[in-house]
Amino acid sequence: MKTLSTETRCVMTPHGAMDYTLERKKVKNINLRVRHDGSVYVSAPKRVPVREIESFIISRSEYIRRAAVYFAERDVKKAPPSYTDGERFMYLGKPLRLNIIADSREYADMCGDELQVHVRDSENTARIKKLTDDWYSRRCSEVFGEIVAEVGGRFRKYGVALPQLKIRSMTSRWGSCHYTKGIITLNRRLIEAPRHCIEHVVTHEFCHFIHPNHSKDFYALLGKEFPDWRASKNELERTVIL
Ligand SMILES: [Zn+2]
Repeated sequence: MKTLSTETRCVMTPHGAMDYTLERKKVKNINLRVRHDGSVYVSAPKRVPVREIESFIISRSEYIRRAAVYFAERDVKKAPPSYTDGERFMYLGKPLRLNIIADSREYADMCGDELQVHVRDSENTARIKKLTDDWYSRRCSEVFGEIVAEVGGRFRKYGVALPQLKIRSMTSRWGSCHYTKGIITLNRRLIEAPRHCIEHVVTHEFCHFIHPNHSKDFYALLGKEFPDWRASKNELERTVIL
């Protein structure tokens, strides 16, 4: 669509001053978009006065603010961690603040909403990463192991034996099931998601022991064993970005 004019403007909203780009186009209505960098784009027909456009922006300012926060958080999650003091990690759907403590004994432990990493040299990022990763690995083994045992208990009635659990870093999937070998592999980043999201993935993989493919019968079984699976899947995809 042909842009007739473009200008950058600023409007006062209940959330403070907001810059936006106004494009005059041959459109029917005022359209508002928040880009991934948080910038606001508005396209409007030529005849609509600026005050009408700005009152529209003001009416949508809460949405704009939330969209900008959403994109900012999503992009932060995508960036690799820097293992610096105060950095935010996720654990079972809740934020954990990294607290680096200089100490002669080296270990990591969770305390309230903090992940406390005790390290001899608080500037040694590689060592802090190692201690953090080891802590997460232990938590993965414990939490995933518990969930596999719980879900396994529910699948005993179908004659499914308790599988071997493997935990891996995977870039494109949450889990997989080797149904002939009796192995379930889970993505270690699942530990960042709320527990019910992990339960959903584990239940999904258990269903593959009975129905290897994503057939109608597979989804019928998943729906029976985990009725809320769709909501958990959406929540997982929103909270942990692979
Ligand atoms: Zn599947």
